[in-house]
Amino acid sequence: PTHVVPARRVLLKLSGETFGGGRVGLDVGVVRRVAEEIAVAVRGGVQVAIVVGGGNFFRGAELSASGMDRARADYMGMLGTVMNCLALQDLLEQAGVSTRVQTAITMGQVAEPYIPLRAIRHLEKGRVVIFGAGAGMPYFSTDTVSAQRALETHCQEVLMGKNGVDGVYTADPRKDPDATLLEHLTYTDALVGDLAVMDATALSLCRDNGVAMRVFGLEEPGNVTRVLQGEKIGTSVTA
Ligand code: UDP
Repeated sequence: PTHVVPARRVLLKLSGETFGGGRVGLDVGVVRRVAEEIAVAVRGGVQVAIVVGGGNFFRGAELSASGMDRARADYMGMLGTVMNCLALQDLLEQAGVSTRVQTAITMGQVAEPYIPLRAIRHLEKGRVVIFGAGAGMPYFSTDTVSAQRALETHCQEVLMGKNGVDGVYTADPRKDPDATLLEHLTYTDALVGDLAVMDATALSLCRDNGVAMRVFGLEEPGNVTRVLQGEKIGTSVTA
């Protein structure tokens, strides 16, 4: 056929804060709600790859501030993300979605190793691919990994789910009542303005390779489905 419309393929970033419901450990109710919202979009034909954070267990920078070696603490942080991956996998499977977890640190009993072409094949078959263990490298963040995985698996958009905010604001809306939501900004705006969208490595990777991003709030019911389906909520960030 000559007029094949390419499938929508997106990368969703879920932070550890989401998994923990704001605390240490796992809030299964929250993960179940997010999984069910993802399932709706997957049944509608959207190809979904997910990068999972781990801040609800360990953050390398925090452990290192308490006296641990930074690199070893970062490995603990990466291992934490894998527990979130397994929780999300379980609840997605319960919601009727076929899944695969791929980790950047190999652990054959619980997940496949990260193999980009295989990940793409899973996505084409309608499976959700959940990427864990970050980049497998200390000093990186799961935001940076989101940009990298989106590029390598040819996702059209990076969707950054946030807790507590529903997009990028002119100032911190929790502190400044005059802060207004920005519907659009460029990666350079975000870098120069030092807006807390995501870390600078992730922003520059997206900018230099022209991948589009959307920052949105996870808490409003239905938002995860909406953003996966392509609704223009929150803030769009482009080159
Ligand atoms: N981490 C790392 N390399 C990576 C990704 C993550 O060292 O490629 C470590 C880092 O210590 C980080 C922790 O894993 O603090 C959890 O990831 P992140 O803080 O990005 O999770 P989130 O803030 O999204 O919950």
